[in-house]
Amino acid sequence: MSKIHYIPHENLPALPPYKTEWDLSSLYYTSADDPQIEADITYAIRQYKAFAKRWRSKPFTTDIATLAVALQEYESLTGNPRISRPGRYFSLRTELDANDSTAEKALAVQRKRLRPASDQILFFTLELGKIPSAHKHVLLKHPDLKHFRYFLKELFDSARHDLTEAEEKIIRLKAPQASHLWQEMTEKLVSTAQVKWKGKVIALPEALETIDTLRSEEKPKLWKLIIEKIDSFGTPAEHEFNAIITDARQEDEVRGYKKPYSATALAYQHDEQSIEALVEGVTKSGFTLSQKFYKLKAQYHGVPSLHYAQKYDSIGTEPTVPFSEALTICRDVFYQVNTAYGAIFDSMLERGQIDVYPRQGKRGGAFMSHGTGHPIQVMLNHKNTLKALETLAHEMGHAVHAHRSQTHNSPLFDGHSIVTAETASTLFEGLVYDAIISAASEDTKIVLLHDKITRDIATIERQIAFFNCELEIHNTIHEHGAMTHAELKETMYRHLKSYLGPAVAIEPIDGASYIYIPHLRYGFYVYSYTFGHLMSSIMTGYYKADKSYRTQIDTFLSAGASDSVVNIFKKIGIDTKKPETFAMALKAHADDIKTFEKLVNKHAPKKI
Ligand SMILES: [Zn+2]
Repeated sequence: MSKIHYIPHENLPALPPYKTEWDLSSLYYTSADDPQIEADITYAIRQYKAFAKRWRSKPFTTDIATLAVALQEYESLTGNPRISRPGRYFSLRTELDANDSTAEKALAVQRKRLRPASDQILFFTLELGKIPSAHKHVLLKHPDLKHFRYFLKELFDSARHDLTEAEEKIIRLKAPQASHLWQEMTEKLVSTAQVKWKGKVIALPEALETIDTLRSEEKPKLWKLIIEKIDSFGTPAEHEFNAIITDARQEDEVRGYKKPYSATALAYQHDEQSIEALVEGVTKSGFTLSQKFYKLKAQYHGVPSLHYAQKYDSIGTEPTVPFSEALTICRDVFYQVNTAYGAIFDSMLERGQIDVYPRQGKRGGAFMSHGTGHPIQVMLNHKNTLKALETLAHEMGHAVHAHRSQTHNSPLFDGHSIVTAETASTLFEGLVYDAIISAASEDTKIVLLHDKITRDIATIERQIAFFNCELEIHNTIHEHGAMTHAELKETMYRHLKSYLGPAVAIEPIDGASYIYIPHLRYGFYVYSYTFGHLMSSIMTGYYKADKSYRTQIDTFLSAGASDSVVNIFKKIGIDTKKPETFAMALKAHADDIKTFEKLVNKHAPKKI
């Protein structure tokens, strides 16, 4: 296997000694028996009670000075990390080991104790939502409430969908069993299942990662084992989907949301029209591009069609990227954009905030997790592949965004919309990819261009196919009351086919993929990847043309949730309301495919 001969810039600081596992005992608590856990839970209960006692029976929305004090206290309560630390600690433990029953029990007990405590402050935001319109306008303009302006605006907008306090409490009480526990069941079935591959028993999440490291002709064999195992969970998955989607739909109706994704648009500080424009644009123009690409790819390999498991197959030798090399490339790029980003990276490595390798029982995939006052955590399942390098860049992009946003904003505004989050992650992913391409030899560049296109398709067309699939499942369950596993599978199959086209031989059983893709359960979350990717490719273009655009990049990363998505992009020169903006972003993707077409026509077919 080939290697990337990446030469970092001479000013890249030496890699400090680092950890490859989360060091939860020094970052959170020494163990499940740490007395500090009980102390923090008791403290949290006291804090909620004190806040409720102080403000519940007092009118706090009419007088500006009183309201300012109440809001300040609310901000410090919700941003107090001691309150959320026990829950965060135990849920991180369950990510590391799905069989950690101590953590699961602790979480259940905590939920039982903390939910009624936190319910006591529900009245606060509900009261704010009930303020008469005329007074809301006064508050939004008042200079003494300037700090809270965006928080109040968002709150007033979503308050239109609020229910009564008693109803909100019932919904919160029923939420775990209506949705979360169902999802956890499927996730647990998948993460603890095993397949036998080459005489070795391996966990399903590891098998899913392993598939990328295999030779092309072996991939369909392992995929068959994986998808048959996943398909065997059809009955529980069917019940899970019907339960969680019916739950979401019924809650939407009660709250008066018109479309299945209306609540998502509001929660992401986004708007329905721009989501629809994006989905329509990609479905119409994007799917033609991805289908064209797979046709060219099949032609390149000299086969009539590719197997579904071979859709990401490289056309050359995929370089191996050991974790140490992946670190060098990523750190170099992060340091180049801004030394502060490199420093964040290094500190997370040193303090054990990145869990690198797959293990039995550990959740599959990768994610970044953050919270006010808490260490940022990144989970990976690193294999020595190019894809794993991209994942590292992606998750660390999330981490830098979370870090900058926490540094520059107070607790109420230090989060971010999921839409801007996926922009940040794909921005770094793209920059790292460009760095690798520029370090590559001419022959490897062709291979990498091909890989870049497959990666882009996975983020642009594939996610919009998921969106369309999720929407169809929502509407079908709503209209017909339920869907069977066979119907769910068939729907997924059709939508996979819609962006892959005739050049990828996909079989009905591949539709069972809906079971193991957790993102289909996140209420149209999938579109955020596409949106983020298209926005970040525009930003990368600006940065490559003029390095001083790094200032705007930092403005973007530091904005947190201090403004709407539209305004945050407007500040850095991108108009997300214009359809031309999406067209411009898709054009770069189309150009890449055109370049690939030229290269394919020059080459004789190469056997898979
Ligand atoms: Zn992401």
